[in-house]
Amino acid sequence: MQGTEIDEYIKNKYERTNESDTRGTNHIAIGKFIDLIHLHENCENTNIRNIAKNIKNLEELVPNFTIFETKEKSAYYITFAAYSLDHDSDKLVDAHEFGHLVIHGINKFELDEEKFSNIVKNARANCISSENKQDFRKYVERLQDRNNKDITDAEKGPVSDILSSVFQYPSLSFKNEDGTISEKMVFPSFHDREYYFDEEKGKMRADRIFDEDFANYYSLVLNGCTKELGILRKFLGEEWMQSMEQELEKAGKNIQMPDIDKNTDINKNSNIDKNTDINKNSNVDKNTNIDSKLGEVLMTQREGALPKELPINELEEQRDTNIEEIQK
Ligand SMILES: [Zn+2]
Repeated sequence: MQGTEIDEYIKNKYERTNESDTRGTNHIAIGKFIDLIHLHENCENTNIRNIAKNIKNLEELVPNFTIFETKEKSAYYITFAAYSLDHDSDKLVDAHEFGHLVIHGINKFELDEEKFSNIVKNARANCISSENKQDFRKYVERLQDRNNKDITDAEKGPVSDILSSVFQYPSLSFKNEDGTISEKMVFPSFHDREYYFDEEKGKMRADRIFDEDFANYYSLVLNGCTKELGILRKFLGEEWMQSMEQELEKAGKNIQMPDIDKNTDINKNSNIDKNTDINKNSNVDKNTNIDSKLGEVLMTQREGALPKELPINELEEQRDTNIEEIQK
């Protein structure tokens, strides 16, 4: 699908023009969603182009998919697999949100948590390896320098959040040569410590890290941020990068063949509805069931503090709050 054909398809399928619809209208979000799909069509990455080309299959993969304009109608996230767009969010944030939809809606979020925990640990070790250590410190210093106008939005957003996720801290301190400890350097974007790390269990929340890392990675690829991806490859290493690339490849394939043994697949591989006899249920029940689960996943994300998704001016306040928290 190209140009106006896809525009018309999306409008007909998802636009709500009826003011009395309790879900509200979504004109602006529809416009932004169409822009996002065009961005997919022009992307260098084949898997991302595939997603745009097969966007109609989203209906089968995520039957209750809907588009919201603001984040205030949170009650509906439970019922619908909602893609939410702010009026004034930028392309990086829009793409990030779509990345979440890709991983939950198209790929059905299957994760070997132990395997990915190890990948995160290795990525962290790679940042502070003897080869990278000096450069990494310089880079974090650069990132947190708010007067540096050369830092790109992609570095302030996705790159920062990914680096903070690998350490599960919003800020880092480094040991100086004389043994003293540097001041805390706060990443321009991050999720709270408790979002990425379960203090009670004493372990990282690998599922959330994977989810956010992929959404951020997706945004970088979709927006053609080659330089920023190169920085991540250098610091986090090949293994982390491959785990993202593989997930994207899976999405490119999954959206092409949404029909193949959908029921069987869900039962076998996904943790969604494993304990339900979905094969016995009618199609309608099955879909509702799956999607309300998906909605819950998205809801959980909303409930967590998501400074990443806030506009930059709100980030200032969020940032200071977090500094206090770490210093405790
Ligand atoms: Zn996110």
